[in-house]
Amino acid sequence: MATATLPLLTPNDFSSDREVRWCPGCGDFSILSQLKKVLAVLNVPREKMVFVSGLGCAGRLPYYLSTYGFHGSYGRAPALATGLKLANPDLQVWVVTGDGDALSAGATHLIHALRRNVDLKILLFNNEVFGLSKGQASPTARPGTRTKTSPEGSFETPLRPISLALAAEATFVARTIDVDVNHMSEVLEKAAAHRGAAFVEIYQNCKIFNDGVFEYATDASIKTDTVIYLEHGRPLLFGRDRNQGLRLNGFEPEAVTLGHGITMDDILIHDERASEPTLAFLLSRLIGPHFPECLGVFRSVQRPTHQQLLDESFLQGDPPRLFEKLLAGDESWLVA
Ligand code: SF4
Repeated sequence: MATATLPLLTPNDFSSDREVRWCPGCGDFSILSQLKKVLAVLNVPREKMVFVSGLGCAGRLPYYLSTYGFHGSYGRAPALATGLKLANPDLQVWVVTGDGDALSAGATHLIHALRRNVDLKILLFNNEVFGLSKGQASPTARPGTRTKTSPEGSFETPLRPISLALAAEATFVARTIDVDVNHMSEVLEKAAAHRGAAFVEIYQNCKIFNDGVFEYATDASIKTDTVIYLEHGRPLLFGRDRNQGLRLNGFEPEAVTLGHGITMDDILIHDERASEPTLAFLLSRLIGPHFPECLGVFRSVQRPTHQQLLDESFLQGDPPRLFEKLLAGDESWLVA
């Protein structure tokens, strides 16, 4: 029997005919460009891909891809995507959201898509500000951020998206940054290959309302000291000479310099496949100036997907036993 081969796709095949209307210099351009490159190598037909978004600047992304797309309402993209995936499990479903969309009105939808392990690829563009509504402090705005709603600087405690995703039992959790294009491609390819809910936070520069907020992680002259690139099975080292690292002191992380009695044996080894997310959670909380921030895959483990559990527990039997029971129960209604 002849095997059907898919036509090779190029990044350009994923460009739509819509004018891209983000502000010049916005980090979204870089994300869109890398995403198209990654989609081109996935070997998934465009008609099998759907991008679902919520509100905000990130929400415009589905317009710019020649795949199926759905621009949903505020914060509801994970719920829409869950329904879509359940209705048609053959689709590869991506969610595109921002810090304002996903972590304010959308926080509960995000949490439940992650804990259910719905087979979605969720990209959270984090620029720490509401961009489309013209620059208000978002749930991830770091203390001191001056915006129209925080003219003296934000005084609220920000949410940390990676910590939240880990606490919600996400099976794939990663962070990358808009200008580090090779790293972004690597992370997006891993997210695409993951079975289950894959959550990727992307640090994204908002040129207009929060320009330069991630400069510490992009400036080549300092980022060796301010960033750790996570590599599975490798020691957590950083610094220009890679002579600094992370170790545990009881339950507290410590940034240490090798030498004077501190050896490689003291340095933590990154294990993205650890069954418990405890160390990943600890890494998700590291921020400057006392610690470098982590980029890469924090967690990548396997657990049955929402669809698998549903099939096993709900749809077995002919006719499906639990489905029949549900319909026959006192809590079912007939809508005529
Ligand atoms: S407001 Fe900010 S995030 Fe939105 S398109 Fe402009 S630069 Fe990008």
